[in-house]
Amino acid sequence: MLLGLPALGVMTAFGIAPGTVVNPQSLTTVRDVIPLPDFAPVATPETRYVTQEKVLRGDTVAALFERLGIRDSRALDFLRVDRKGSTIFRKLVPGRTLQAETNADGQLLALRYYLSSDAILEILRHGDSFAAGDRAIDASPRVFHRSATIRSSLFAATDAAGIPDAVALQIARVFATDIDFHSDLRKGDRFTVVYEMLYDAGELLGPGRILAAEFVNDGRVHTAVLFTDDEGGETHYELDGSNRAKAFLRSPVEFSRVSSGFGNRFHPVLRNWRAHTGVDFAAPKGTRVLAAADGNVVSAGWRNGYGNAVEIRHGGGIQTLYGHLSGFANGVRAGTRVRQGDPIGFVGATGLATGPHLHYEFKISGIHQDPMRVALPKATPVPTHLRAKFEAAATDASTKLAIVRTADAARFE
Ligand SMILES: [Zn+2]
Repeated sequence: MLLGLPALGVMTAFGIAPGTVVNPQSLTTVRDVIPLPDFAPVATPETRYVTQEKVLRGDTVAALFERLGIRDSRALDFLRVDRKGSTIFRKLVPGRTLQAETNADGQLLALRYYLSSDAILEILRHGDSFAAGDRAIDASPRVFHRSATIRSSLFAATDAAGIPDAVALQIARVFATDIDFHSDLRKGDRFTVVYEMLYDAGELLGPGRILAAEFVNDGRVHTAVLFTDDEGGETHYELDGSNRAKAFLRSPVEFSRVSSGFGNRFHPVLRNWRAHTGVDFAAPKGTRVLAAADGNVVSAGWRNGYGNAVEIRHGGGIQTLYGHLSGFANGVRAGTRVRQGDPIGFVGATGLATGPHLHYEFKISGIHQDPMRVALPKATPVPTHLRAKFEAAATDASTKLAIVRTADAARFE
């Protein structure tokens, strides 16, 4: 499964152990202590311990230090006062990776914060002092191929196939306009994925892009191929050239390891349509609620029976409403511009709700519609002048997918 990886320990440092008990607020990353080989010449040879952590929502630098096993108040003091180092306090973005090298006493030797896929903030110890600076990542992607069959859940399948969680979530995002991963998955669904993992000087940084994927859901084949246009824009298209993106998500509840467990027990419930006017999505309190489409927030606040609610105006006279939220995402207020998939709040049970769920309404020109039944337009297909270039990319992708599918089927049977 892990052939081609230079250091197994680095890989496991990213994983969430299968069966780990998680709660909606904090996903616990399994942290392995990885002694690096000594690089000669070293004046005072000492073991360096490398740990990595993902920034969580609401995280602080002090909390990250704690989880990384850094016991070094002088390092924290340095970050507070240093002009460059202090930028870390303003740039803690959930999901980004922080890597620390410490000695056995927990003294910080090096700290690396991955600002983007190509830039890194690096803090290095020099004797008794520290220096901070930005540098470009010398990232080299390696391509992995995996294929798996769904027996119980997406994560059970990705765990079994050795696919990192971050890639599993990307798969869910790529197909989110066709498949609601909470409720649409069927036993026997299959998928094949070709994805990148990024390395910086031999260290695994995390997942890169999904280059190609195929998902067979309930007998229907959905495909994705990443295509770069002449301006460098990257879009996932179907192999036939139609855009994977659609105007609206199938489900405005973020798919995660935590919310995935609810899939089989709680389908989106469509109650008496005339009386209810919305779809209820059951999900654990704190699960992120996502903007179903690009738009402008009309209101975000308390609305009687709806409790905390967000209403968004989209193009074409469409408005969506998200009710019973436990809270709002940072910066979401009347007038905020949101993009499809942006977090706008968190599942809760405020207002007239008997338990945590998202109440979701969809209106066209003020009239309630069933969002699960409305036919929604697809985004723009591959432009004509790029059609030939795309055909080559699509043929290449479909050949790769076929090879992986066949090879993995042979291996597992
Ligand atoms: Zn409802």
